[in-house]
Formats: sequence, C-alpha cells, structure tokens
Amino acid sequence: MTLKQLWKTALGEIELCVSKPNFITWFKNTELKNKKEGIAIINVPNGFNKEWLQNKYYNLILKTLKNLSPDVKEIQFAIGGNFFQKTEKTQEKEAIKEEQLEFEEFHIDPETNLNPKYRFDNFVVGSFNELAQAAGIAVTKHLGKLYNPLFVYGGVGLGKTHLLQAIGNEIKRKYPSKKIKYLSSEKYTSELVDALSKKGMESFKTKYRKVDILIVDDIHFIAGKEKTQEEFFHTFNTLHQQNKQIIISADRPPKAISTLADRLRSRFEGGMIADISSPDLETRIAILKAKTKEKNFEISEDILHYIASNISKNIRELEGALNRLIVSHQLNGKELSLSYAKKILSNIISKPKTFTNFKKILNCVAEFYDIDINDLINKCRKKELVHPRQVAMYLIREELKASYPFIGEKLGNRDHTTVIYACEKISKQIQDDNNLQQEINLIKERIYQ
Ligand code: ADP
Ligand code: MG
Repeated sequence: MTLKQLWKTALGEIELCVSKPNFITWFKNTELKNKKEGIAIINVPNGFNKEWLQNKYYNLILKTLKNLSPDVKEIQFAIGGNFFQKTEKTQEKEAIKEEQLEFEEFHIDPETNLNPKYRFDNFVVGSFNELAQAAGIAVTKHLGKLYNPLFVYGGVGLGKTHLLQAIGNEIKRKYPSKKIKYLSSEKYTSELVDALSKKGMESFKTKYRKVDILIVDDIHFIAGKEKTQEEFFHTFNTLHQQNKQIIISADRPPKAISTLADRLRSRFEGGMIADISSPDLETRIAILKAKTKEKNFEISEDILHYIASNISKNIRELEGALNRLIVSHQLNGKELSLSYAKKILSNIISKPKTFTNFKKILNCVAEFYDIDINDLINKCRKKELVHPRQVAMYLIREELKASYPFIGEKLGNRDHTTVIYACEKISKQIQDDNNLQQEINLIKERIYQ
C-alpha cells in the first residue's frame, strides 16, 4: 500500500469517529508525508491545526494507522515540511490519570462488562438522585415494559456509571439467564470502527442486537458521529421492538445534545428521562460515612464535615479526598485529627491560585489562532480575525472580571456594546458547541501555564 492509499484508508476510518465539521476542519488538508522507523509524519497546513490534532486526535490517529500498518509507533506532525516532535507535555498529560485507589479487588465480568462493586446497596440516595434511583429500581422489576429507554443524565462524577451498573448487576442477580451488555459509547464507536475495517459488521450487529439488556454509558460521545449514530439507531430499534430494556446515560438531557440526530433524540425522549444533580451537604456527609464504613474505617464526624463542606462539586472528588486521608494515615500511622486532615488535604481543598493579566491573555489567543497580536486590536473585519477577537474579549471578561468599557478601550478603542455582544455570543455558543468549549479550554491552559 502506498502512503497515499494508507492515509486515505485511515481518513475513511477517522471520518467515522469524528463529526463532519471537525473532520473537514482538521483532517481535510492533511497528508501522510513519510513513514520510517515506526514514525509516521503527517503534513498539516498550520500550527493551530497541528496543535489541535496533537491534543485531540493523537490517539485516534495512532490507533487507526497502527491498525492498518502495525509498524507505526508514533506520529509526528509537520507544518510546511518542518518537523515537530511530540511535546513532552502531551505525554505527561496522558500519564497523569486521576488518583483513585481500590481498596478491594473487584473483577469485571467479561461477559457483561459489569463491575460488581457498583450496587444499589452502596448507592446513597438523596433528593439529588432519588428519581433516577427509583426509576432504575423500577426498571429491574419491569424489564423493557415500564421505562424504555431509561435515560439518566447528570454532571461528571455524580453517579451515572454507578447507577447504570447497579441496575445491570441487579438484573443479573434477579434473572441470571438474561444477556446483559454494558459499555460506553466510546467503546461502541471503536468496536464499530474495528468491525468496519475488518469486515466484521455482521458479528458486530448481532453482538448488540441479540442482547436482552443493553446499557450504554456516556452516550453524548456519539453526538456528531453520523455513522455510529446510524448503526446505534438500528440496534436501538431492533431491541426496542422486542421490548428489550435499554438504559442510557449522558452528561446532558437529549435535547441539549446538539449534534444528536433528531431520530435518535426522539427515541431517547420516548422513555423515561431522570436527572442526577449535586448532593447537598447532609447527603455528602452520608456518602462519606457510607464509604468509610465500606472501607472498614473510622473517621470522626468533624473531619467528615470538613471534607463535605469543602468539596461539593462531585462524589468522585469526595471519595478521592477520603482515600487520600486513609492512605496517608496508614502510611504514617498518625492519629487522624482535624488539623492533620486539613494538612493532608490542603492541596486538594485550597487549590493554589494562579494569576494572569491582560497582555498574557492577548498573547495566548493570538498564538493559539496563529495571528498577530495587533490583529486582535486593529479594526479589520475579516472573519478569521473576528472570532479570535471575540474569544479574547470573552476571556478577559471571564478571567480578569474586567469592565466592558475597559476591554473595549484596550482592544482598539471599541465601543463597550461591541464587547458585550462578543462576550454574550461566545458564552452562548460554548453551551452547545463542544469544539468551542475545548478551544477555550486549550487557550486557558496556556494562559495559566
Ligand atoms: P459518573 O459516571 O456520573 O461520572 P460515577 O458513577 O463514576 O460518576 O461516580 C463517581 C464515584 O462516586 C464512584 O466511585 C461512585 O461509586 C461514587 N458514587 C457516585 N454516586 C454515588 C452514590 N449515590 N452513593 C455512593 N457512591 C456514589
Ligand atoms: Mg461515568
């Protein structure tokens, strides 16, 4: 296979995994320039493009190429013939995985993919999740008949995976002969891509169309992936017509997943939608108590209260703090006092503050979009400059809490209404444009580097 054919095949597969606009923006003008000693060099048109592919699609590209040509071990991106090394930073980032300790060994069932550690009896219920929990229990009692699909949504670390798996485990306990499959939508996508490249579509289809219960976690990841959505739509229908139970989670309700195909959205909305919000202080304490008990540990009420009042965002972090405390106690053997706990948790709880300034934000925005800093300030109305300029205004407003007139004055003496318009436009767009959200996050990372 020539380099050209290889890249064309790879692009065909990548196209299945990313949204159409993304594919066009990031992959259209790329070519496989060279492949030597395990390093594939991909030519890209500009620095922004390179950065984006490196940060967002490195693993996907590597995996796809490796599948087709197993000798590929690494990818490098080149702009106009200049070769760049993969930065240390991205490698570092890949290495840093969330700190999570396992106190007990649990074995994931290879048949169902369910982890037995997620159960109803260790799922704490409060007003924040009681609807979802009750709906989950109801589903286990009336498989496929009552709420189908059950669609659970909520933010990160609030218990969606726990609940979905608890439902799966409970069904398995009650009806041992039912065929259950749990998987994330990312896994679904990558299996589909594999099946397509290996001509294994038939077995892929039957694998998911002959189950009795299908549980798909984090469905929002298939948003925008047209082929994946299409295949999932057919699987969904096949199962649904036979009253097979389907359970789905996402980080948002179906109507807020902007690039979800309408027909899938209306299928999701045809069952029961239940949300999980954030637990209040009492519930957070109850969760901590349940977790310490589960780990056969004792921690005083004041320490639990301290953790629960300082960590409110999600349950995963709550658990992380508790684990850290228990481990350092086990390592040091010191008595668990409140002041000791505060010391141990100091870097989780009071995150070091970082500062930025006006100039830094402008620099990072200009660098990110590969334009001159003066382009942000002067009056040119070219489309490719207007967007970076609006992003700069938005970031200055968000990060520095600067006043609108101040921002306008600094950015080429513009009227404050222009700034208000820009800030509102970007903050609205971010809500349903994941790419813009990621773009802003990347810039922020640079600002606070
Ligand atoms: P999500 O899938 O929403 O990101 P997870 O289900 O992975 O969140 O939950 C994160 C962690 O918090 C897991 O260890 C899980 O067991 C725990 N957890 C979440 N909700 C509860 C709950 N209601 N009771 C007990 N533990 C919970
Ligand atoms: Mg999850």
